[in-house]
Amino acid sequence: MTAILSWAEGRSCRYNMTDLIKTLHTNKDLPDAQLKTIIESDEYEQELFETADKIRQSYYGTDVYIRGLIEFTNYCKNNCYYCGIRRDNQKVERYRLGKEEILSCCKQGYALGFRTFVLQGGEDIAFSDELICDITAEIKKLYPDCAVTLSLGEKSHDSYQSYFNAGANRYLLRHETANAEHYRALHPDSMSLENRKNCLWDLKKIGYEVGSGFMVGSPYQTTECLIEDLRFLQELQPDMIGIGPYISHQNTPFHDQQNGDLRVCLRLIAILRLMFPNALIPATTALGSIDAKGRELGLMAGANVLMPNLSPVNVRKQYELYDNKICVYEGAAQCRGCLENRTASTGYHIVTNIGNKIEAFSNDRTV
Ligand code: SAM
Repeated sequence: MTAILSWAEGRSCRYNMTDLIKTLHTNKDLPDAQLKTIIESDEYEQELFETADKIRQSYYGTDVYIRGLIEFTNYCKNNCYYCGIRRDNQKVERYRLGKEEILSCCKQGYALGFRTFVLQGGEDIAFSDELICDITAEIKKLYPDCAVTLSLGEKSHDSYQSYFNAGANRYLLRHETANAEHYRALHPDSMSLENRKNCLWDLKKIGYEVGSGFMVGSPYQTTECLIEDLRFLQELQPDMIGIGPYISHQNTPFHDQQNGDLRVCLRLIAILRLMFPNALIPATTALGSIDAKGRELGLMAGANVLMPNLSPVNVRKQYELYDNKICVYEGAAQCRGCLENRTASTGYHIVTNIGNKIEAFSNDRTV
């Protein structure tokens, strides 16, 4: 099987796609031009997905890990052009959960088998470092067998250190795009790629398990940008890599931009699995929002994590990062049950510590 690739100089080069996929698997790397071919070519994607699926099974069997997502505030001081909860969106009804409400989400999640709580929110100045530390420490005290993951955006080294000291184990911060010009097209001048990257390096140095990632198909993104994303991830070596399609939101400056493409996103999940065989790769809510079967397809292309929502149903709709976000009306138990069935339909199974202890901890990670 071959693909024709036109080189910049006008030369023509014939790649054997099966060989490219094999080489990517063996070397966990490929030159840029060959990565570009795999990212752009839809003809051979089934072979790519099947290879990624095999690698995923050899590392993780049929296990799918779940993380309980608590979207605890939609206030944000930032103004990212793509994001539905950006500061200047006057149409969002803003909310923040109190400490007791967050703890009640954890309680419900714990009973459903969750052993990781992900506290995610906009950059909300009402949540001081002291408050974040207090909430984190309380969760760790009540649920010492659980991991706390924070996803609060860009903070100082000292803030990250204080959360870590309070017991936070992991931090999710997508770099969004590793290309400085592209970063500038997606964010106002008050934000910089340099600061975002520095935050990620700080988090690593402190000792967090770090998750990063990017949107696929964000406005002005080129294949070259995506290759830069992969190169940055090679440098960073994160524990988790979260990617999902860009989906436009009606009340942002990007409201009339095209959504990211499901297939390109799936190909990138598969490429990530080949390049980072051990990584935790979620089949994201955005993937499920762009296509009814998006998350199942993600799992079959190499993803191995799901992040169902534990937030109270009455605020879910307000954490609308993009239009038509799914899972905004179902309660935590319903989401959990729905994902159980969806996962089973792919031949995989969700592992929790309920009735499944040994498998859940088999990879030496906190489930
Ligand atoms: N404030 C934290 C931060 O900056 O990392 C966490 C919240 S932020 C809303 C979480 C992620 O949502 C971002 O990293 C971004 O990739 C994603 N996101 C925001 N708007 C999106 C959109 N329109 N389509 C897809 N993903 C989006």
